[in-house]
Amino acid sequence: MRSLSIVMPIYNEEALIDELVRRVTHVMDSLEREFDLASEWVLINDGSRDRSLEMLAKHAVSDPRLVIIDLSRNFGHQPAIQAGLEHAAGDAVVIMDGDLQDPPELIPELVQAWKKGSRVVVAQRRSRAEHGIKGMMFAAFHKMLAKVSDLKMETGSGVFGLLDRKAVNEVLLLRERNRFFPGLRSWVGYDQGVVYYDREERAAGEPKQTFGRLMRYAFDAVFSFSFKPLRAIWTFGFIVSIFSFAYALFLLVMRILNINVVVGFTTPTVAILMLGGVQLISIGILGEYLGRIYDEVKQRPHYVVNEIIRSTNANAIATSPGVLSVSVEE
Ligand code: UDP
Ligand code: MG
Repeated sequence: MRSLSIVMPIYNEEALIDELVRRVTHVMDSLEREFDLASEWVLINDGSRDRSLEMLAKHAVSDPRLVIIDLSRNFGHQPAIQAGLEHAAGDAVVIMDGDLQDPPELIPELVQAWKKGSRVVVAQRRSRAEHGIKGMMFAAFHKMLAKVSDLKMETGSGVFGLLDRKAVNEVLLLRERNRFFPGLRSWVGYDQGVVYYDREERAAGEPKQTFGRLMRYAFDAVFSFSFKPLRAIWTFGFIVSIFSFAYALFLLVMRILNINVVVGFTTPTVAILMLGGVQLISIGILGEYLGRIYDEVKQRPHYVVNEIIRSTNANAIATSPGVLSVSVEE
């Protein structure tokens, strides 16, 4: 029997966990019936400070298909996904957000595309639920990324999708720490199928990715997949140099011919301010790469696991009410 793993990061999602479990386990049941596919559900608790872990553990006791990887603290969305990928055992792995913005009911379609031969299946948003400024920023980001990226990648998609075992292993070989998963998924190549869906609003609670985290993620996408910012500095420096040289030559000729040039205030001020600004931006861009290089050379692990929780006995909750009978692997 073939098997599927569902990998899902969870951070402070207590408001929607019961609904999540109901919908995902329902889909897992149907996978077994329709595709003869055994499934496990790898939930990564990314240092939640609410009741998420407790609630998940309770569900894990009654359903042995749940595996909970409890991280030692909040590491962030991408490291949590990495933890899930490293612990998933299935012949194929579905990666999705745990806020029900990625509908679990789409999984059978992903599986179908996989069975038809796609090693990688990308769930592409036909529409997204974010409107207003956030929606506009997302759209602008994906447009910009498509232009800037050195690698031709599916843009407009998030982490939601399926990777078969071979593709998962390839992604796991990419050890970089500043991870932009959709980019890594494009990087591994293979026949990449696409399934379209409408992105929903998150089922409950507030978005857990702060604005700062999202910006950082966007920067990771650009700086890990593009040298264009560096090239832009080079080009700009080159153009400015040519102009300065021409201008200096012009001033020199005026001086030699003793044509009285009005010694102004504006030109030097503008030149100093502009070049100063350009230099600061350039140093900033260098800094973005440098910071990432520093981060990489430290070679720290991507995450730390506190414990792995899975049921040893499906009926444990009935025999010991209030006590979680689970096996814990350190
Ligand atoms: N998440 C996480 N760690 C974090 C932030 C978020 O594991 O530090 C999880 C979160 O629980 C959710 C998924 O990552 O399942 C996506 O987060 P969110 O919906 O807040 O992001 P957005 O939809 O705003 O990109
Ligand atoms: Mg979300």
